[in-house]
This record gives sequence, structure tokens and C-alpha cells, in this order.
Amino acid sequence: MKPVLFALFFLTLFLCAGRAHAAVQEKVEKSEEEWRALLTPEQFEITRKKGTERAFTGAYWDHHEKGVYACVCCGALLFSSEAKYDSGSGWPSYWATIEGAPVVEKRDVSFGMIRTEVLCGRCDAHLGHLFSDGPPPSGLRYCINSAALTFIPAE
Ligand SMILES: [Zn+2]
Repeated sequence: MKPVLFALFFLTLFLCAGRAHAAVQEKVEKSEEEWRALLTPEQFEITRKKGTERAFTGAYWDHHEKGVYACVCCGALLFSSEAKYDSGSGWPSYWATIEGAPVVEKRDVSFGMIRTEVLCGRCDAHLGHLFSDGPPPSGLRYCINSAALTFIPAE
């Protein structure tokens, strides 16, 4: 085998292995029109346009069933009812994400405030914000829009 072919053979192997691995944490990318077609207007405004639902209006701020909360856009599992607590804010609040959840934090300086934005790392959906006034053990408060979540009850 010529050295070039030999190198190509290994390069191909390497690329295939890389692709198989990437499939596990595959990014979900859609155009604005595709998201608009998939989501309700409120879900679209919040997750794709960084909107915020009014406090005490969402489906989950006062929701106490056991289960998990997934990204409304891509279905990634993000939060568990075990880390949900009543923060009094009017938005569903969690002191932790599910372990290994693709939750991404980003500095947000909009509206004259310095906040930490919370996004779904799989599809870049805006979820809400992260604050450091949560309860023990983490002291964190993930303040999330109900409209960015879909609830999956425990079996
Ligand atoms: Zn997502």
C-alpha cells in the first residue's frame, strides 16, 4: 500500500470514530422557520428569542409531580423534580440540573443587569437565568421559564 493511501485509510477510520462519538451528544440545529413551525408562539418567543414569561403564569411554577423536565425544543433531559423547590419567584426553580445535562451558562448583560443566562447546550434554547441565592446544598437557583420545558412524569 502506498503511504498516502495508508494515511487516508487511517484518516477515514479516525473520522468515522469521531462521528460515532458525536452522535451521542449531537447538536440540534434548525432554522428560525423550522423552530417556529415546531413550537407555540410563546415557546418560540422564549426559547429562540430569549423572552421571559410573566411570573406566576407558566405551567410549572406551582407544579409538584415527580418526574423530569426536558427541553421543549429538543427533548434533552435538564432538571429533576428532586431538585425543584418553591423559590417564591413565580418561575419553576431548581437548585441543580440533572447530572450530565447539557446546560450551558453564559454571561448576560441585557436590560442593564449582569446575569447568567442558562441555555440548552444541545439546541441553544434560552431557558432562563442562574442566580446564587438558592437553597442548600448548592446555593444555586436555576430560574427557568415553564414554556422552555416539557414535563415527563415518573413511571
Ligand atoms: Zn434543547
